[in-house]
Amino acid sequence: MIRYLNNVRLETNFYKDETDLTRTATELVTLGIENEKIVEILVQKEGSYPKGEDMKGLLALPTLREMHNHLDKTYMPLGWRATTPVANLKERLALEANELALLAPSTVLRADAMIKHLLSYGVSHIRTHVNIDPYIGLTNFHGVKEALEKYKDYLTYEIVAFPQHGYFLENTPELMEQALQEGADLVGGLDPAGIDFAIEDSITELVQLAQNYDRGIDIHLHDLGDVGVYTVETLLDQLERCDFKHSVALSHAFCLKISEDKKRNELFERLSKTNVHIMSTVPYDLRDRRPPIDQLTQAGVAVSFGSDGFFDSWSSFVSGDLVEKVKNFCEVTGKITEEEIARSYQYACGKPCPFSFDSKKYWFDEGELANILFVPASCTAEFVARRPLERKLLLRGKWIDVSDENRY
Ligand SMILES: [Zn+2]
Repeated sequence: MIRYLNNVRLETNFYKDETDLTRTATELVTLGIENEKIVEILVQKEGSYPKGEDMKGLLALPTLREMHNHLDKTYMPLGWRATTPVANLKERLALEANELALLAPSTVLRADAMIKHLLSYGVSHIRTHVNIDPYIGLTNFHGVKEALEKYKDYLTYEIVAFPQHGYFLENTPELMEQALQEGADLVGGLDPAGIDFAIEDSITELVQLAQNYDRGIDIHLHDLGDVGVYTVETLLDQLERCDFKHSVALSHAFCLKISEDKKRNELFERLSKTNVHIMSTVPYDLRDRRPPIDQLTQAGVAVSFGSDGFFDSWSSFVSGDLVEKVKNFCEVTGKITEEEIARSYQYACGKPCPFSFDSKKYWFDEGELANILFVPASCTAEFVARRPLERKLLLRGKWIDVSDENRY
């Protein structure tokens, strides 16, 4: 049976107002939902729409996709703790190694708290890395899997087997294989130069493992400058050589900030051809290490945003709201028009803005999954700029509890 949501606001196109300012036109529609899908989008004419739930003019937007998280690391339900200062990545890893075994018994509980927190902002997909290391073996992998399975009827997810303390450490290669045998979706990697000290060998192992188990790859790449670029080129060489078919992502990829035009353009063209996806947390601190997201997008390279680890031993400040990442991105790159801000929402929802000045189109089509985020805003740009927290979330046609108590 079809059920109806009335007074739903959908954007249709951009236009210029009398002062030449870009604005966004909207329409009130009725959405028909059946069997997890949007089956009808009816433009409302006064008094002539089917009986249904009144959405009171809330704006309907695509849901958020958290593309880089560490569900196993958060302290979330254990109370507040600021991050311990360290001098470098080596010290940070040593600190983490000390507490891994202490935190492991509460992995299910902590991951569950993070999932609820992310859902409260409107997430419909989570890609999480999970530590695979000699200190805790597969404990966190099992815990995160258990926590996510509870939500599998409406939340999609991917688990990356992530050798956080280095691929070549003790029995890590065997543990990685075990995680893949037990269903990890992607092979993770970390700084083939800075952590593994073996660029070629590390990449060869990761690509081979992914090939053997028919999985994608997601590498945390913090290595900077020429070393980072050489790592990317080595990865591309190997992917091209074996005609790699699965998804490949580079998280962080600070090294892609290349000043030389020719070198940058050539590399971005290869990234696009090989379908390498860039995941960014949109860092905007004094080191300003963001990859050039606009140039990557122009070159046809897919870019998505993620929170990375937070409320954990790595970071205290991240909110977990991907819309905040979009807002930060707009602020640091000077995007201020409604069109620029609305187009930037693609990095949080995985869908390019479908409408323009010349063509009218809704964010949604009939026949697609009823994953919808309802927000009190007049347009996407206002939602990003104002970031209201009163949200309603429909996943696969079901209302999801996004109440404040689920948010930390
Ligand atoms: Zn990470």
